[in-house]
Amino acid sequence: MDIQTTPRRRTQQPGRRTFQRGGRRPARQGTEGHSAHNHNDHEDVRRGERERKRMPIPKLEPGDIRIIPLGGVEEVGKNMTAIEYGGEIVVVDIGVQFPDEQTPGVDYIIPDTSYLEERASAVKAVLVTHGHLDHIGGIPFVMGKIGNPPIYTTLLTAVMIKKRQEEFPHLAKLNIEVIARGETLRVGKHFSFRFFETTHTIPDTVGIIMDTPYGNIVMTGDIKIDHKNGVPEPHEVETFSAIGKEKNLLLIADSTNVEKPGFSYSERDVHINLHKIISEATGRLIVGTFASLLERIIFIIKDAEEMGKKIVIEGRSMKTNVEIARELGLLSVHRGTIIPAEEMQNYPDNKIVVLATGAQGDEYAALMRISNRAHKTVKLKKGDVTLLSSSVIPGNEKAVQKLKDNLARQGAKIIHNNIADVHSSGHSYGGELQWVHEMVKARFFMPVHGYHHMLRVHADMAERLGTPEKNIIVPDNGSVIEIVEEGKRIIKRKENASAGIVMVDSLGTGDVKDVVIRDRQMLSEEGIFMIVAIINLKTGKVRKSPDIISRGFVYLKESQDLLHRVRFLIKKTIETATSKQHPINFDYVRNEVRETVGKLLFQETHKRPIILPVLIEV
Ligand SMILES: [Zn+2]
Repeated sequence: MDIQTTPRRRTQQPGRRTFQRGGRRPARQGTEGHSAHNHNDHEDVRRGERERKRMPIPKLEPGDIRIIPLGGVEEVGKNMTAIEYGGEIVVVDIGVQFPDEQTPGVDYIIPDTSYLEERASAVKAVLVTHGHLDHIGGIPFVMGKIGNPPIYTTLLTAVMIKKRQEEFPHLAKLNIEVIARGETLRVGKHFSFRFFETTHTIPDTVGIIMDTPYGNIVMTGDIKIDHKNGVPEPHEVETFSAIGKEKNLLLIADSTNVEKPGFSYSERDVHINLHKIISEATGRLIVGTFASLLERIIFIIKDAEEMGKKIVIEGRSMKTNVEIARELGLLSVHRGTIIPAEEMQNYPDNKIVVLATGAQGDEYAALMRISNRAHKTVKLKKGDVTLLSSSVIPGNEKAVQKLKDNLARQGAKIIHNNIADVHSSGHSYGGELQWVHEMVKARFFMPVHGYHHMLRVHADMAERLGTPEKNIIVPDNGSVIEIVEEGKRIIKRKENASAGIVMVDSLGTGDVKDVVIRDRQMLSEEGIFMIVAIINLKTGKVRKSPDIISRGFVYLKESQDLLHRVRFLIKKTIETATSKQHPINFDYVRNEVRETVGKLLFQETHKRPIILPVLIEV
């Protein structure tokens, strides 16, 4: 995934808490209707626990290799895979997923690492393929739970991990080691790895080759193939023919864009189009894009500088990433090329390029503030051109629409991906993936990075290309996959590693349960209904008419009849309940009120607000 700006997130605070929801997400998330066996029901944590207890995962047989995708195979996001061999475990990537309307108030969703926590002393290393949050974002929340093993990665990724860790000063220091491409890395007693260079949207992205006695396990990570008109570029051919010459046991590959046919639009062609737009801009050019598309950002800055333009950078994640790129020498610009927004007015309009986060219409991002006239220095005017160099992530359509409307209202001309090719994805299309399969020629195949249906499409492709069905495994989060009989067979065990949903929010540490999320959902969808009743302790009678306060439920002023009936019902319920009680059990009375009022409100309005009865004793 390319998203690195964090959409719809509140201000960051240290001391987040993580909390866990057993089982899996509701079927709406795209896992509907497949292999329900072995799975925990999302509605019943306890049943899931029992099932797990009944089916403990056996110890791995000597000589066998175990692979567990702990995240990223039932979603686009929170990528994480564990590989176990000879009593040792190595983890590849620890990503996050961004919350949606199902998890209000949650900052991140991270993989369930229970399997690793129970075997923390066996975890020897974490290998990281690239610096996007869906591959590194879980590191601060997970490392402590798995014994803080060393992290091995490339230089840019290492710096991005360190920068992110600075936001959590209370956490233990990470031990990160930078590995050069091609260098063989030995981990523990048994593991040996190499990185190979891949194309994505951020520099220093790698795939991973793990040597095993039966051949290589080749993991692509997030990948696209650099090509010209569908012909892979020589450097790709070189990398993949070298891999193809070896004995490859298992290919684990990115499935994000497998459904799209042919080859993806190349980033080079995007650059050509951007160059044209930058050079032809007669007014100021405001470019909205993802901070994670660092290669493109570097290109825009260099290109604009060559044309004698000045660049203003707006948005925290964009600033951080550009700063990192400069520190590492991935971007070298003259002093004075990147200027603060306040100095913009010192230059002619056609000499200004503004790079801003927020092309998804994220509420607090720079571009949204610019479009709302809420930005303190960048004010749009006629003659400005805004360029949205991104795709619209599903779910963000309305926000982007609003963004475009607001930009247009201020007289800015808008160029977006439907008008010109100003964006390309960082993930291979079907044609590119097919080429990867043909080059690698592995015996076994496991698709990753995507929703279940994407993995299925990828599995079908592998079969069409000649991999027998029995050699292909379509995993779920927590599937326990083993290569057995000295590399001759691949199996999916009936036992599953725990794959619940672990959420992180910013309210501090504590044990918060599913019920909190459910309440947040109910509050947002159904509203709240509060009842204040005064009860005479001696007689159990209700004094005066109960007070009712509601928010987000129905407009009370227009529901006098309903209110009247609710008041009557409250009085009757309380007095019936208290008539047999001395002393009065207030918990019981509250529950009765909640239940009877809840029933009536649902009957009348088809809504289920949160009902809060407050009973005052006099
Ligand atoms: Zn990525």
